[in-house]
Amino acid sequence: MSDLLAKLDARTLKAGGLIKQREKDIFVARIRVAAGNIDADKMIKAAELAKKYGRGFCHFTFQQSIEIPWVKLEDFDSFRRDLDAAGLSLANCGPKVRAITACSGCTINPYGVVDAAGLAAKADERFFGVETPHKFKIAYAGCPIGCPNPQGNDLGFHGMVEPELHADLCNGCSLCVTLCNSRGNGALKMSEETQLPERDLEKCIYCGECIVGCPTEAWVAKRVGHAVYVGGKHGRFPRWADRVADFVSDEETFELIERVVQWYREHGKRGERIGYTIDRLGLEKFRREVCGDRFTTAHTWNARGDRPVLESEVARE
Ligand code: SF4
Ligand code: SF4
Ligand code: SF4
Repeated sequence: MSDLLAKLDARTLKAGGLIKQREKDIFVARIRVAAGNIDADKMIKAAELAKKYGRGFCHFTFQQSIEIPWVKLEDFDSFRRDLDAAGLSLANCGPKVRAITACSGCTINPYGVVDAAGLAAKADERFFGVETPHKFKIAYAGCPIGCPNPQGNDLGFHGMVEPELHADLCNGCSLCVTLCNSRGNGALKMSEETQLPERDLEKCIYCGECIVGCPTEAWVAKRVGHAVYVGGKHGRFPRWADRVADFVSDEETFELIERVVQWYREHGKRGERIGYTIDRLGLEKFRREVCGDRFTTAHTWNARGDRPVLESEVARE
């Protein structure tokens, strides 16, 4: 028997990133990947490990980790040594902060308004593996499109940007109005009086389409930050996260992770996802104790947290 398994049972191994397959003494090795980025040389090493210890293929998990299936129990010690030598490490399972996920954000994607991957990597360094009552997943998205699904994570962030018009640069082409109608939230219209675009503050979802699309750069970013969602999950009983704050700064996202995890550790029952802790104790208590007066939302967002509730819609909600 492996020296490792002599000391650890299968449950402990799973918590450490070695997950038992259906077959006897065969495991999936889950390699830690923070923020969805992995150095190309390490990627090659992971592929070599899959050839040496698995069946020559890797699987990319929904959480952006790399898995090597078909690793034999008897090879564990040697596998771990090779993994260390390659500069790779195992991910985790169980009641902990999991590897933090992200899209490429503003460093690569034209829609990105924040450095989602860079922030997620920093957050992963600080919070990966912190023990919590149940699994705790965190995602950073570069913009409100939210590809890494911030609303489906225990704690999720997406970039948001407030546009400001420099009227002297506007040529009145109305392209921004068209873009806002098709991809934003119909928050812009051309003023008949001034022939300039006017923004409806209640309808704006801070996506920045007007800024990206304006040919004369008349729309500029007045402020950039993150929207914050808490309590989302997938699984048999999915739960959509609650939007609890807007325009949080990069550094404040780390502060919020710490505050949210601390609150969850104090109030969550063992085996209870934070969304259910919030359901049990009330969102208002969470807001009061974690967000206080400092972290607030720009609007009363609707139940899905993806566009403002308008006066005309309140009666229908
Ligand atoms: S969330 Fe936005 S920035 Fe991130 S990949 Fe999707 S479109 Fe690009
Ligand atoms: S796209 Fe730019 S130039 Fe055209 S109307 Fe809008 S702000 Fe003005
Ligand atoms: S940020 Fe988005 S929703 Fe707001 S005005 Fe610009 S395009 Fe429209």
